[in-house]
Amino acid sequence: MFVTNNTTAAPVGRFAPTPSGRMHLGNVFAALIAWLSVRSRGGSLVLRMEDLDTQRTSDEYAQTLREDLTWLGLDWDWETPPQSRRSEVYDRYFSILEEKGLLYPCYCTRSQLHSVNAPHLSDGTYVYAGTCRDLTSTQRAAFSRAPSWRVRVPDREWVVDDLLQGTYRENLVTDCGDFVVRRADGVYVYQLAVTVDDGEAGVTEVVRGMDLLSSAPRQMYLQSLFGFPHPQYGHVPMLLAPDGRRLSKRDKDLDLGQLRLRMRPEALLGALAHAAKLTDTAQPISARELASLFSWDRLSREAIYLQGEDLL
Ligand code: GLU
Repeated sequence: MFVTNNTTAAPVGRFAPTPSGRMHLGNVFAALIAWLSVRSRGGSLVLRMEDLDTQRTSDEYAQTLREDLTWLGLDWDWETPPQSRRSEVYDRYFSILEEKGLLYPCYCTRSQLHSVNAPHLSDGTYVYAGTCRDLTSTQRAAFSRAPSWRVRVPDREWVVDDLLQGTYRENLVTDCGDFVVRRADGVYVYQLAVTVDDGEAGVTEVVRGMDLLSSAPRQMYLQSLFGFPHPQYGHVPMLLAPDGRRLSKRDKDLDLGQLRLRMRPEALLGALAHAAKLTDTAQPISARELASLFSWDRLSREAIYLQGEDLL
């Protein structure tokens, strides 16, 4: 079943990896589903390197990511410039927020934010208490340090109609608070960059890991301010080790550097597709062959436990 904003034109999906290391299995799985969803319907894919954190990311990792996607058989139609080179574009969107009177400087330090006894979201983001929201210009002038910039959020509900997770609702006032769009060092944050990049690339479908579901309402809010249509969201389950741990870049034996030494891409895709309930057996299979079998209805909604016989 598909509910999209764009039912007539072919879908446009995206890969948006962070080039901070080799892809691990969780990244591979999210990329595979993003690719299958779009390719099974004759759509196109855009690749974008999310390298805002220039300390942790590198061009070498970006190049290895491209090679790993190619090895897996997951192709893309074009690549947009990496986020680290787009700060002038983000400046323009920052100005839109400024002109709407929605921005204000925040002088809170990290320890102040974390000491506030506030609930926090599953992604670790604290609900901002609005401490700097109504400072006077005299109060602002008294701070000597550079501020971060926050966008005011409206008191309304955002509904994510997710292809896999069903309906997810958030009111940003109670679930997040006014959030940072530009850090004190001038670097734009993920939420703003991803909204601008997906919007400008005409992305109609955002498929990514479940850990980013709680970001979707912030991105929907920014889309509405920038005049971009909301894409269809699909947040895929996390892959877990047999002991319930989430796989991460620390699981070196499950990153593509290691996996490529010990298996063919078809064997890896076959094992992943089976673990996700897309196929009845773990037989080796190519991405192209999987595209002809793909259906969102078959895909497991639950966290996927990798078993010894899968890949470990
Ligand atoms: N760059 C993020 C990551 O590698 C994904 C962001 C997104 O898909 O919106 O986890």
